[in-house]
Amino acid sequence: MKIEPVAHNTLAHSVAERLLTLIADGTIRSGEKMPSERNLMDKLQVSRTTIREALSGLAALGIVEIRPGLGTFVKPDARDLVPHTLAALQDPNARPLAKTVKIARDNGSQDTSRPALPPPPEKPVRIPNLKKDRLATFELISWWERAQVQAARVMVVGAGALGNEVLKNLALMGVGNLFIVDFDTIEAANLSRSVLFRAEDNGLKKAEVAARRVKELNPDVHVQFFHGDINTQLGLGVFRRMDVVVGCLDNREARLALNRFTYRLNQPWVDGAIQELLGLVRVFVPGQGACYECTLTEQARREMSLRYSCPLLARQNILLGKVPTTPTSSSIVGALQAQEALKLIHKLPVDAGKVLHVNGMTNEFHSTAYTPDPECESHWVYGDITELPDRKASNTTLAEMLRIARDALGADALIELDQEIVTALECHNCATNTEVYRPISTVGYNEGLCPGCGELREVHMTHVITGRESFLQRPLLAMGIPPLHIVRAHNADEYRFFELTGDLPETIHFAHFEGGAQAPRAARIRLNARPQIKLGAPQPLAVAEQAPSSKPARPRVVLHPVK
Ligand SMILES: [Zn+2]
Ligand SMILES: [Zn+2]
Repeated sequence: MKIEPVAHNTLAHSVAERLLTLIADGTIRSGEKMPSERNLMDKLQVSRTTIREALSGLAALGIVEIRPGLGTFVKPDARDLVPHTLAALQDPNARPLAKTVKIARDNGSQDTSRPALPPPPEKPVRIPNLKKDRLATFELISWWERAQVQAARVMVVGAGALGNEVLKNLALMGVGNLFIVDFDTIEAANLSRSVLFRAEDNGLKKAEVAARRVKELNPDVHVQFFHGDINTQLGLGVFRRMDVVVGCLDNREARLALNRFTYRLNQPWVDGAIQELLGLVRVFVPGQGACYECTLTEQARREMSLRYSCPLLARQNILLGKVPTTPTSSSIVGALQAQEALKLIHKLPVDAGKVLHVNGMTNEFHSTAYTPDPECESHWVYGDITELPDRKASNTTLAEMLRIARDALGADALIELDQEIVTALECHNCATNTEVYRPISTVGYNEGLCPGCGELREVHMTHVITGRESFLQRPLLAMGIPPLHIVRAHNADEYRFFELTGDLPETIHFAHFEGGAQAPRAARIRLNARPQIKLGAPQPLAVAEQAPSSKPARPRVVLHPVK
């Protein structure tokens, strides 16, 4: 007796039918979000691959819409379409599911016979102009959506070895808007693995040079660079306006920060890491499997909390990350990251919450799913965000912000800052108290030492604004709250979120090097004219009392001992 194996797509097929009947009987409602993949896997007792195959089939049939980072939504008119779709599915001659693009796969799956990928019927066939159109050949890729790629906004955090590769690929593919973040400058050692940097760039800002070269590579791409610290200097409103965030980082602290920011705004992010010939790539999507923080071991958590227990040491350690690797590793991992970003832009399925390990020594690729941690502190998606079009971080004082919060939440509302703000450093030996007002992560260990006696001073910190503070007249910017940030307030019952939307035009513009990337000098002059975010810049009141008027171009707070 010969037993035929059950065809792989049969299972997805019956899952799709089952989902259709659930939509028809109202168990899953039209216009609403589908239950999570995990939930469906439990209920229907099938693998994630099968669920995804069924869902992408239903998406192709116009029943559901897959929105990466948000979930799968039942279309408002889905219920009416069910009878027709069910009939189509049951017709043995038409196998609509077999025609759908199949991307999802599980590691170790026996399924090697993937269905061919015909162009989706809704995409008109265009004859590309190979002489004039640099993106012409992409048009021949069946699922490529030129308009979507050109409209996409992608943030690349870290412009080192990985960042260079990711940016190069995104620019070549014509991804329309690139926001490049790095706080570092170029040194000779970067030249061995950074395709965008040249010897003459030594000492220049990585983010700026990368942006200029990306613009040279593809002048149709709009770029913006940000030379600053991802942990504290970028408002959440910036993340909110990105389609995908790609992390090209070399340290845990920045990854954790990126993970929390993106999670709060329900955004996907793509992580990459390299060391020697090893690499890994992972995509994190809120609500779909594990997030970055879920993947941290007890050991890693202990190390991090240990650092934070002596706050002024935290920052020093971050700067240690100098990873030995090769340009081949960064090419491979950076390419995979850019490719995942491209899929997310196209709303194609991705393997969220899994890690793809790349071993360049043995040429092995393997992927493993992480276990989500139900207790994970990162799992918090902000609710509705109130935009404040007239409010900027620089023109709104803490008192005004508190008033806005209390108008919405009542008189007992408090503002919760995202991290501890060092308000003062006090030396008990010398009986001095020095005002600081900067995020803890930007105050170095040496600054904590008393200039009078050399002892480590007591650090006064706060992360809640109650209305009783002595510094309520300080603007938010002078409390370390960056432009376009989303400020969080709560009363006993609920949280509300307020965006400093007045900062939007200056904070996100994608207009760097629009005049042409070839003239670095001219471009640099233009850039300097744009005000940079100065965290901890002296606030007006203090300046009036004590500040010399001949400040250097980039003012920093100096710590004045107060008698
Ligand atoms: Zn988590
Ligand atoms: Zn002292």
